[in-house]
Amino acid sequence: MTTMKVAVLGLGIMGSGMARQLLNADFEVAVWNRSAEKAAPLAKAGARIGSTPADAAQGASVVVAMLADDTVSRAVWTGEDGAFAAMDEGAIAIDSSTLTGGWVAQLAALAEARGIRFLEAPVTGSRDQAAQGALRFLVGGGGEVLAAARPVFEAMGSTVVHLGPVGSGATVKLANNFLCGVQAASLSEAVALFEKRGLDVEQAMSILTDGAPASPLLKAVSRRMLDRAYDPHFLVPLMGKDLGYAEQALAEVGIVSAIAAAARQRFVEADAAGHGTQDIASIVEPLRAADGAPGS
Ligand code: NAP
Repeated sequence: MTTMKVAVLGLGIMGSGMARQLLNADFEVAVWNRSAEKAAPLAKAGARIGSTPADAAQGASVVVAMLADDTVSRAVWTGEDGAFAAMDEGAIAIDSSTLTGGWVAQLAALAEARGIRFLEAPVTGSRDQAAQGALRFLVGGGGEVLAAARPVFEAMGSTVVHLGPVGSGATVKLANNFLCGVQAASLSEAVALFEKRGLDVEQAMSILTDGAPASPLLKAVSRRMLDRAYDPHFLVPLMGKDLGYAEQALAEVGIVSAIAAAARQRFVEADAAGHGTQDIASIVEPLRAADGAPGS
């Protein structure tokens, strides 16, 4: 049996874990990242480092991208040294980044024009799930393409959900992060309220985490806010980006989302206050620093 060749483009918090899971599953893996130092640990584990996206994608039957946003995705797939320039006809391109439905549709068309098969597959789960091969893939695209790529998804994730045609994954992923972002934003305001009122914050928070508002996100992110533990699981600017994309998706169907816009503002403010390389839990910091003494 020949080993399937897989390329991973983008070795950030998520892509690094995904590439490592593919190596653990004995795929022949090539990687590329803008900042080359992030590829070094994977090279030690057996990955070939590509000098460009095209170089990494050369000869791969499946190429997976995990990149910041639409602009980066466009450059890495379709640029001069982009992956499409090197991919064979019939090879499969998978973009797992959180992207807009509009860009994903364009990307699918550009792939098709080159005879490249395409799936969008944004994920739920975060840094720990990526490192453990426990992501959930929200797939949009053809069922036959998904069947061919399934071993790759199964190495990186615990669940693969086929939601429908290209664009379905982006819609569900953006709704997912819309709800997560709104919850994190409202949580930051509640934590700041408790602190400014001089309450026993652990006790006050336990009412929320044991009560109706409780969710995995509320529990995990409130812990990090209280501990001031901002080592990134999910970066502040990326949640800001996702709330902007969710706002855009809602606007496309005629819904003006003041809720997404207000939540996004918390992430924009935190980024501007210097928390851009920290976890989303750090959005509470500008509120802590704002006027309003405890007990006032
Ligand atoms: P990250 O650690 O910031 O990684 C972003 C990746 O994009 C890195 O490989 C980065 O390269 C690359 N990149 C950024 N700007 C670039 C540019 N101008 N040119 C080329 N490459 C560029 O973020 P992440 O958490 O892994 O997220 C990746 C994607 O997954 C995003 O779309 C995010 O919304 C989504 N996502 C994240 C999570 C999470 O919890 N972290 C969960 C689900 C989905 P460098 O290393 O050189 O900066």
